[in-house]
Amino acid sequence: MQLYKNQPLKIYNSLSSKKDTFKPIDEGYVGMYVCGPTVYSNVHLGNVRTFMSFDMIFRYFKHLGFKVRYVRNITDAGHLENDADEGEDRIAKKARLEKIEPMEVVQMYTVDFHNTLNKFNFLPPSIEPTATGHIIEQIEIIKTILDKGLAYEINGSVYFDVLKFNETKKYGILSGRNVEDLIHNTRALDGQSDKKNPQDFALWKKAEPQHIMRWPSPWSDGFPGWHLECTAMSTKYLGEQFDIHGGGMDLKFPHHECEIAQAEACNGHSPVNTWMHANMLTLNGQKMAKSTGNNILPHEIFTGENDNLSKAFSPSVARFFMMQAHYRSILDFSNDALEASEKGFNKLIDAINTLGKLTVNDTSSFNIEAWKADCYKAMNDDFNTPILIAELFSAVKFINQVKDGKATISKEDLELLTQTLHAFVFDILGLLNDTNGDDGSEKLSDTVEVLIKMRAEARANKDFALSDKIRDELLAVGIQLKDGKDGTSFSTN
Ligand SMILES: [Zn+2]
Repeated sequence: MQLYKNQPLKIYNSLSSKKDTFKPIDEGYVGMYVCGPTVYSNVHLGNVRTFMSFDMIFRYFKHLGFKVRYVRNITDAGHLENDADEGEDRIAKKARLEKIEPMEVVQMYTVDFHNTLNKFNFLPPSIEPTATGHIIEQIEIIKTILDKGLAYEINGSVYFDVLKFNETKKYGILSGRNVEDLIHNTRALDGQSDKKNPQDFALWKKAEPQHIMRWPSPWSDGFPGWHLECTAMSTKYLGEQFDIHGGGMDLKFPHHECEIAQAEACNGHSPVNTWMHANMLTLNGQKMAKSTGNNILPHEIFTGENDNLSKAFSPSVARFFMMQAHYRSILDFSNDALEASEKGFNKLIDAINTLGKLTVNDTSSFNIEAWKADCYKAMNDDFNTPILIAELFSAVKFINQVKDGKATISKEDLELLTQTLHAFVFDILGLLNDTNGDDGSEKLSDTVEVLIKMRAEARANKDFALSDKIRDELLAVGIQLKDGKDGTSFSTN
């Protein structure tokens, strides 16, 4: 269904610094590129949040009926330790320290990345290209930029000439920096560098003799600059101009700024219509850092084995927690916040599990169509998931009122409510019905139903000692029975 025809979507564009109405280049199609991980260590929880935001965005576009080509790359070469084109390649350094092949490092952490994302119920992107698989394309781009006179070669390395580019185009449009400030603020060259100016950036670096990750090129045996791979892969799979480019806020400068400059130098126009940036995740109000212990690895959430956690949480609870904040807001992760999210998530899933047991009426005391429109309104306002979740809880409240006989719902409305809740909770927010871990929720529910039946039989036989025993023992393990006019129900809170 082409829902997008009646759903005008506004997206905050980092390039215009405002919410713009989304107009795809080709009607019905969306091309989206998101900078993927550099696979030299376990994926960071903050990165999981960034990728989760784009997973939700990918899911919403698909829900609206767009055909989406979502490209998320794997950086497996060229990302140096610092942004000034200095230091060792992060992957090569890890390989040296662990005494293994760089491609073993890449394999190990690519597998970890995929496993982690699968746990959080991510959809795979349409294409997941690697930097090392696109060296030829990167060399071709460098040749074009050199031909246009916007790069220079020195001692086997090639650098992008930012000042030359800035004579006819504007460098810094995304991050709002201007070249004069950059010249002023960039650390002076230390004499080791071949660059003409400190703000220039590497397109190709000649490899030192000890550098293992190297490829032949017209200039030297070396490796591409980090910013180049994204230009090569986005152009190859999405074209010279595409709809959306996303990434973490920290990539805005210099990475995305350099991508814009490279693409404009090659093709003469801006490569991306909408730039989207997801905000960071803090832990207990502080930046996460391994060195201070203020850090959580994603898998530690599922085991609870981290000093910052009092217990284990399910992947859906963690996902629900992240979706409770807008993707452009800073989100603070803490044990208390996760516990609160767990309560909310369980309440939401309990209400969804109740839907099939509700008694229908001729009329509804809640306007489901208007509520559904509000859910879309929230998502169409720059993917506002916290507002959407607030709307979902209006439905939860209503479902519980129907259950308690304080509100009514018609058969048609019950169908519409069920369908809409499933679409937003499972398809778009990407949550799973796993309140009791894996598939335990249904089994628990069936088991309690058996006990409820046995208790009813005991009461019918006037065996109140047994019926009370069943009730009390269930309560002791945290399951509360409630007797109502439609029989007995239970809750786990
Ligand atoms: Zn990138």
